[in-house]
Formats: sequence, C-alpha cells, structure tokens
Amino acid sequence: MRIVLLGPQGAGKGTQASRLAEKTGAEHVSTGDLVRAEIKQGTELGKKVQEYNDKGELVPDEIIVEMAKPHLKSGSWILDGFPRTEGQAKALDEALGDLSVGLDKVVALEAPDEDLVQRLSGRRQSEATGKIYHVEHDPPPEDLEEDPGPFVQRYDDTEQAIRRRLAVYHEQTEPLKDYYADQGLLATVDATRGIPEVTEEMLRAVGEAGGLPA
Ligand code: AMP
Repeated sequence: MRIVLLGPQGAGKGTQASRLAEKTGAEHVSTGDLVRAEIKQGTELGKKVQEYNDKGELVPDEIIVEMAKPHLKSGSWILDGFPRTEGQAKALDEALGDLSVGLDKVVALEAPDEDLVQRLSGRRQSEATGKIYHVEHDPPPEDLEEDPGPFVQRYDDTEQAIRRRLAVYHEQTEPLKDYYADQGLLATVDATRGIPEVTEEMLRAVGEAGGLPA
C-alpha cells in the first residue's frame, strides 16, 4: 500500500496516519518527525533544517527529498507531510518510477483554518510515547499502560508559526490536490468530524483504490 496524506497542519494527518498504519501494517513516514529527530540529535543536517522548522517554513526540496527517499523502499507506507511542493511531488514520481511502483491513493484531509488554529494551539505530545493529544478534544486517558512522561507543546505550535505554516500550506501544498486529481488519485475527506469517523472514511477511500491487503 502506497498512500500520500495531504492536508493542512492540525487536520489530523499524524493521528490518522498512525491509525491507518496500525490497521494496515504499512509504515508511517512523517517527514516532520524525521526533521525533528535530526534537530533533537543535533546532527549537521539537524542544524541546517532547524531554522526553517522554527519559523514554520519549508525545508528546501532537495534536502527533504533525500531524507524521505530511503523510506520509500519498504514497499508499504503512508507518507505524512510529504510531498509538500510541486517540486517534491515530481521528485516522488521520479523516485517511484525508479522503483517501478506507483501510488495507490492520495487522501486530502480538509478543515477550515480557524478550526486548525484552535486545534494546534491545544496540541500536546507525550514526550515518552510520541502520541499526540488535545487539551480539550482528546485529553490523555488516566489509565495509560505506559507512563507518558511530560506533555509538551511543539515549539512551532505558536500562533505566529501556525498562521505562517497555514499560509505556506495554501500557497505551496494545496495546489497538489489538482496535481493528483489530474492523475485520478485524489480522495478528499472532511477532517472536522471525530477521529474514528475520519479513519473509517480514509480506509474506505484506500480500500476502494485496492490499497488494502485482501
Ligand atoms: P510537520 O510536522 O509535518 O508540520 O513538519 C514540521 C516542519 O518540518 C515543517 O514546518 C518544515 O519546516 C519541515 N518539513 C516537514 N516536511 C517537509 C516537507 N515535505 N517539505 C519541506 N519541509 C518539511
């Protein structure tokens, strides 16, 4: 199964990609997580990408393409946060061509900006498990099996960085919906509904495309 997940920050891409990965056995590949891991480890690459990440700007295409490429070989994945520009989409097509494979489906999650700002400002991540919660809409249950450790806010989830990231999304990433619609690959999903309902609709879209194992 090879799926691209498009959608603005806060639409639930990360949450939905990990639910879909759990249900299908595909690998969840988040380029945002790859970027944050490099920054956390203080690598040379991490230093290069940190200023883009902190400002809510996109890392240059050639850097992010090289980070994503090794993960395409596994055969079954859900790409979360990649591609984000037409240049990246073309680089992905080329990389898949080299592997003689294609995409099964592109699922675009959709929600109005004001909902997204509200969701992102309440977003908290468990430092221990990496799981994402929302202070109001999806608080962590009290009987978690694993100690979640402290809950932290992402440093690019400030109101200013959020607005900047949404503007970048509309300008550079949203046009990819047309790019993939032209290839007959696009399914749009209303992301304002509850988490399980959104997953169900995504599974339907992916299943109809033949992306699910029998
Ligand atoms: P995310 O967690 O997907 O919101 O990504 C966090 C940050 O990582 C973004 O604001 C960018 O700085 C960087 N990033 C992640 N994916 C990409 C991508 N496909 N292209 C460029 N920058 C990216």
